[in-house]
Amino acid sequence: YRSKARGRGTSTIFTNEMVESHKRKLSIANSIDQALANNEFTLYYQPKVARDGELVGFEALMRWQHPDFGLVMPGEFIPIAEQSGKISSLTRWAIERACIDLPLLQSVFFNKFRVAINLSGHDLRHSGMFDLIHQIFTQQQVNPEYIEFEVTESAYLENFAFANKFFRRLSNMGCAISLDDFGTGYSSLSYLTQITIDTLKIDRQFVRELNTSHRSRLVTGSIIDLAKRLSLTVCAEGIEELSQWDYLLNHGCDHVQGYLFSQPLPLEDVALLPARFEFGPDHVSRLSGQ
Ligand code: C2E
Ligand code: MG
Ligand code: MG
Ligand code: MG
Repeated sequence: YRSKARGRGTSTIFTNEMVESHKRKLSIANSIDQALANNEFTLYYQPKVARDGELVGFEALMRWQHPDFGLVMPGEFIPIAEQSGKISSLTRWAIERACIDLPLLQSVFFNKFRVAINLSGHDLRHSGMFDLIHQIFTQQQVNPEYIEFEVTESAYLENFAFANKFFRRLSNMGCAISLDDFGTGYSSLSYLTQITIDTLKIDRQFVRELNTSHRSRLVTGSIIDLAKRLSLTVCAEGIEELSQWDYLLNHGCDHVQGYLFSQPLPLEDVALLPARFEFGPDHVSRLSGQ
């Protein structure tokens, strides 16, 4: 029948792939605790850049140096950690690590900027999370004003009641809150009148389409307008080309992140970054002309 018609080889390869991917998932889920104990996780830092090119902060992004699989990216292991109930230990680790790295990052640039840490939806429902964060700040003697938390639009909205309360408490303590991947999650904007955030992060998808789609340019411009009207800071992600930054600058975008400036870097390489990014006399004059 079908399987015969398709041929034995084809169906065997397909099955093997599925088995391998399932094995890898299981192996990743089962080795998270061990990996934490063995120091296999690290934080990479990607600079956030202001309108004048000045470095204004960093986003901490997790990486896993796995003994068998090599460098494993968060896009793969974060969802597995969420499904297997391990995410809060990873979050705890990331917050601790970022708090330890913060004074180093600040001393490199003689600057008191913020470090942003990503939270997952599960963290918002975890009843002890606020106390845990507070405890880490106290232990590491970190001023909460130097810490920003990023949460995706969908994670915020799926946990709306918890999230509002949780972020209000963090905000009262001095932390900044960013809504990540904005524009990809929900169609209704009514929630924007009720949430506690400081920054709206425009998803990379919009930035990617700036070059090719007039509509994407209009939508992106409108998102920036909307954020400004709500007195929020706007940060755009995934800037890879100067033309994209130009468009965003002309429409009032405050902060940008992307490979144009730098990929996320291990802590030891952060010192190689310039304190201010410049892209030739053209760019400088365009900025001062505004
Ligand atoms: P995100 O928070 O939206 O982070 C932005 C992602 O875009 C990062 O991928 C970053 O490396 C990538 N990126 C930045 N600039 C560019 C660019 O110009 N071009 C392209 N193509 N990509 C760019 P990364 O590090 O693989 O992280 C993926 C996602 O994993 C993050 O998306 C975040 O949702 C999640 N994540 C990372 N670290 C953590 C963490 O410590 N905790 C939690 N809960 N989630 C994390
Ligand atoms: Mg983020
Ligand atoms: Mg994002
Ligand atoms: Mg994203």
